[in-house]
Amino acid sequence: MNPTEWFTEQAPGAGSAFSLKIKRKLHEEQSDFQFLEIYETEDFGNLMVIDGCTMVSTRDNFFYHEMMSHPVLFTHPNPKRVWIIGGGDCGTLKEVLKHPGVEQVVQIDIDERVTRLAEIYFPELCESNGDPRAELKFIDGIKWVKDAAPGSVDIIIVDSTDPVGPAEGLFGEAFYRDCLNCLSENGMVIQQSESALYHLNLMQAMRNAMSAAGFDHLQTLFFPQCIYPSGWWSATIAGKKSLGSFRQEDSANKPFTTEYYNVDIHRAALAQPEFVKRAFGG
Ligand code: SAM
Repeated sequence: MNPTEWFTEQAPGAGSAFSLKIKRKLHEEQSDFQFLEIYETEDFGNLMVIDGCTMVSTRDNFFYHEMMSHPVLFTHPNPKRVWIIGGGDCGTLKEVLKHPGVEQVVQIDIDERVTRLAEIYFPELCESNGDPRAELKFIDGIKWVKDAAPGSVDIIIVDSTDPVGPAEGLFGEAFYRDCLNCLSENGMVIQQSESALYHLNLMQAMRNAMSAAGFDHLQTLFFPQCIYPSGWWSATIAGKKSLGSFRQEDSANKPFTTEYYNVDIHRAALAQPEFVKRAFGG
């Protein structure tokens, strides 16, 4: 097989790699923050790669975008104001805007080029960007949260790259402290928390940092994401107050369509594998 026909991402320290067969490279550039590449693949539609890591493919992005938005929105009792930190491909924004009760969504990505490329190569993810409830800002999410007024948001979705480069500070205690400060009474953060199989230490460090910052209530959800290392991804919700059960009836009667998320998927995603329970001390 000609190796130039494949895009491959190696998982450092995991002795594994994931490849997609590509037709051609559509674009590459060094932005002010990161190296961005877009490929046309044989079977996964378009693929966005940032600093050598797969971010989004046309074919499978719905797993991640739906699980980063609907579980937390159905866990909060009445979410109206949502911030998305990162998320420049706009897929999470599109899912959040499906909730009719949401009144305002601000997406804060450090790199405007990610969104400009998504508009060209992933137009289906950007189709709700013109919604009057949506606002796109291109600044550092760490600074945005630090400068925010106390109690000014209900849900913060941290849809970031891995904890290196500009995203490193998004996984630390200082950032979670700032999040806690700007959340309203029942406020919640959800953050992508990598793979339990490959990055359990990182997941634990992140949960410890959330607890140390003052979030007493944590829930980690598991879901498939085949283009990410190990193919098995997670997101962690941190609540100011007890997270309890989610709004199951509202979830079962959601007034919009999804590809993956539903009430049963939500329940199942909350189940903790035995080795994860042991690691979390449960
Ligand atoms: N789904 C992806 C994943 O888990 O690999 C994340 C995709 S999304 C495109 C990640 C975004 O986070 C990028 O657009 C990047 O520019 C943004 N980002 C990284 N650090 C950031 C920061 N400090 N503030 C705001 N956005 C940031």
